Amino acid sequence: MRAMIIDDSRPIRRIEGEILSELGFDTCDACHGKEALERLQEGPRPDVILVDWNMPEMDGLEFIKAVRDDARYSGMVILMVTTETEPEQMLRALSAGADEYLMKPFAKDGLVDKLKLVGVV
Ligand SMILES: [Mg+2]
Repeated sequence: MRAMIIDDSRPIRRIEGEILSELGFDTCDACHGKEALERLQEGPRPDVILVDWNMPEMDGLEFIKAVRDDARYSGMVILMVTTETEPEQMLRALSAGADEYLMKPFAKDGLVDKLKLVGVV
């Protein structure tokens, strides 16, 4: 299984990467949505994407919309991981096409539970 981690915070990318590696995922990183779209075009295709909301260049919400608008990327699981804690924000992300939503700060178990919920672990 492959996972893509998109976050403008290097420590967050590292923490998420360590957890996913422990679970047996091959991981790749991007520091904003635009870079992530470039990575997707280069391949290989991830099974699951963890995406932050607030990032420069292209934020997580725009990224999700772009991926869900593109038939080449159908079937990829997207988990939004963010400090945005308002219920309306969660609804915006889910209606844009996120499969699940995890609030920062998160514990390892919280991330693992969400990955189980979306069926990639
Ligand atoms: Mg951020």
